[in-house]
Amino acid sequence: MQYETVIGLEIHAQLSTETKMFCGCSAKFGSEPNTQTCPVCIGMPGVLPVMNKKAIEYVVRTGLALNCNISSYSRFARKNYFYPDLPKGYQISQYELPLCEGGYVEINLNGGSKKIRLTRIHLEEDAGKNIHDGAGSESLVDLNRAGVPLMEIVTEPDISSPREAVEFMKRLRAIVRCIGVCDGNMEQGSLRCDANISVRPAGQEEFGVKTEIKNMNSFRFVEKALDYEIRRQTAALREGKRIIQETRLWNADRGITESMRSKEEAHDYRYFPDPDLMPVELDGSWLETIREAIPELPHVRRARFISQYHLPEQDADTLTADMATAEWFEEAVRLGGDPKVVSNWTRGELARLLNEDNRQIEDCLLKPEYLVGMLKLIDNGTISGKIAKTVFEEMYKTGREAGDIVKEKGLVQISDEAGIGAVVDEVLDKHPEEVKRYRAGEAKLMGFFVGQVMKKTKGKANPRIVNELLRKRLG
Ligand code: ADP
Ligand code: ZN
Ligand code: MG
Repeated sequence: MQYETVIGLEIHAQLSTETKMFCGCSAKFGSEPNTQTCPVCIGMPGVLPVMNKKAIEYVVRTGLALNCNISSYSRFARKNYFYPDLPKGYQISQYELPLCEGGYVEINLNGGSKKIRLTRIHLEEDAGKNIHDGAGSESLVDLNRAGVPLMEIVTEPDISSPREAVEFMKRLRAIVRCIGVCDGNMEQGSLRCDANISVRPAGQEEFGVKTEIKNMNSFRFVEKALDYEIRRQTAALREGKRIIQETRLWNADRGITESMRSKEEAHDYRYFPDPDLMPVELDGSWLETIREAIPELPHVRRARFISQYHLPEQDADTLTADMATAEWFEEAVRLGGDPKVVSNWTRGELARLLNEDNRQIEDCLLKPEYLVGMLKLIDNGTISGKIAKTVFEEMYKTGREAGDIVKEKGLVQISDEAGIGAVVDEVLDKHPEEVKRYRAGEAKLMGFFVGQVMKKTKGKANPRIVNELLRKRLG
């Protein structure tokens, strides 16, 4: 019996607002515990929440970018449960009237494309954080995160493999970063995912019983956990067992998912409309203002890079993976760089250097105009392609222009025939044995001679002239 996989994702994205959802506390990550709290977000009695308009704008912007219907009327609800990181005893969320419904994200895989439909996007507040590795046997609570705005994006069960799930998340991450609503930092938990998964006999209409794998914060975990669940569920069904609907956790150390709680233990959250908050009514003209401010989305830009600059798909993929890289590239092209050549330097040397330094392209000293300046020096023969790598690295380190570096370090390519000729003669005189062998037909020794000349000239000799002269002398 063949089985097929059905997956639906619930993604939590922390909004990059300055302040929390219902109070003026900072929403910044990584501060000293409990330094970003006030009576509202620690749930003191008698306080009233005030909505953060920016958070609503960000969810609407996301909804528009993901082709959703934006609700002109939505409402906040209380989701009631007890946990030490939730002093109020309820989380403010949205239930029957979310801000956005419908919509889709298009993913590309194996040359094809597929639309993953969205069910809804709603806005809620985050809870605090319990810390169990504190002093002795005590557990500690940090409420800095309590009340930070989160948006939850729920997909329809349209995803058919772990690869598709990761592709979806990558695409979504690129979009939320591009439109500036979430930094997409998965290690810090700005983007995390609950994955629902079931298997069913191939061709069967009805869905199988699903499990939900909670709170994964890396693409690799999502893929591995889903792979594991497919194997576990399929094996169970093959043995004639039933799948239990439950919540599971990915154990990265053991490489397995483990049961956390079953459906029977699931909470009844007693949702009801929050009486402290007014319903949200959105003004049509405000929506239009938000829509107009949405920048070109990554997949649109990717398609444009392919058609406008005739770049291979792979080049377009990496260049548009983040907005800053795409802009750096385009700026260099605007300044006269050949698109494919600029792409090669951006994806090759520049990416390598940034990666080594663990640095973002925004903080890069090497500006697009410096690359273009260097490419001109290659084109007019001032420096060789080989020397260019050295110059590029120096530009990257110092933030200085190629011309200055070339002058200062004496990297100008030697193109005068007399000068190179002298070195060529020297090399041939020094290696009479190799010259004999070359003349006897060992053609590959040409590489050896070129190498010797380049070594003596510290890589500065014009390779075309070196080859010419060697061939003439050895001819
Ligand atoms: P629940 O009632 O358990 O919260 P929902 O119907 O609200 O389930 O769906 C939650 C998520 O699970 C959605 O992303 C949805 O697409 C997905 N989902 C629902 N049923 C299945 C299933 N049988 N297999 C895989 N995913 C599913
Ligand atoms: Zn607060
Ligand atoms: Mg549900």
